Amino acid sequence: MATFIVLLGPPGVGKGTQARILADAKKIAHISSGDLFRENIKNQTELGKHARSFIDKGELVPDDVTIGMIRERLSRPDCIPGAILDGFPRTPVQAVALEKMLAEFNGEVSVVPYITAPESVVVGRISGRWTCRLNGHVFHHMFNPPIKAGICDIDGSELYQRKDDEVETVTIRIRVYLEQTIPLVEYYRKSGKLIEINGAQSVEQVSKDLCAAVNI
Ligand code: ADP
Ligand code: ADP
Repeated sequence: MATFIVLLGPPGVGKGTQARILADAKKIAHISSGDLFRENIKNQTELGKHARSFIDKGELVPDDVTIGMIRERLSRPDCIPGAILDGFPRTPVQAVALEKMLAEFNGEVSVVPYITAPESVVVGRISGRWTCRLNGHVFHHMFNPPIKAGICDIDGSELYQRKDDEVETVTIRIRVYLEQTIPLVEYYRKSGKLIEINGAQSVEQVSKDLCAAVNI
């Protein structure tokens, strides 16, 4: 049975950073719903144009669009052994849809690391986040600065600040998280799959705790 790891946590807590480290270390696919949306926006697809109107306002993209996009991604061969899901599911409706999809692909959610940090920490992380245009690698102007300002260390592409990382939109995203994603935390807690990870630590320490929690 293929095993899928669902990373939960507020915006900016470090889910993407940790998912990339874990995916590289364990050689499994990393599926980031936010990255998939941003790729569609960059390529000006219909899905991207539709999603953008929600993302720029800090709201969630409707479930049907999001679930359809993830279904397509899960059907690719690199997900056969399993994957790390980062940013999806974000609502209980999406979690139920995920279970149905995984059953079709002979998989299941094995563990749900829930990365937490106080709001002031996540706001500080988001306000200093710089994202690379080509592959979505992230840097932080203080905690993880690129060697050359404005340039991605990994692929040399330009770094930019996400429009939805502006402070007004971040306030909305945190509210949306509390209203729509916290119920999902309770859903997974009841299932016994939730493991809390202290995200207010260095990248390396969070990564150690995460590796121990997922045990793969
Ligand atoms: P964060 O840094 O907040 O974790 P993401 O990159 O995961 O941000 O998501 C950016 C935006 O993309 C969200 O604010 C939302 O508009 C949209 N999005 C991402 N994942 C989902 C999802 N599972 N359901 C609905 N919208 C989503
Ligand atoms: P998320 O995917 O949850 O929105 P990211 O992985 O994009 O979060 O991280 C948000 C910002 O915080 C990025 O600029 C990243 O470099 C930085 N960051 C991630 N983890 C840590 C950490 N443990 N300590 C300090 N900064 C971090």
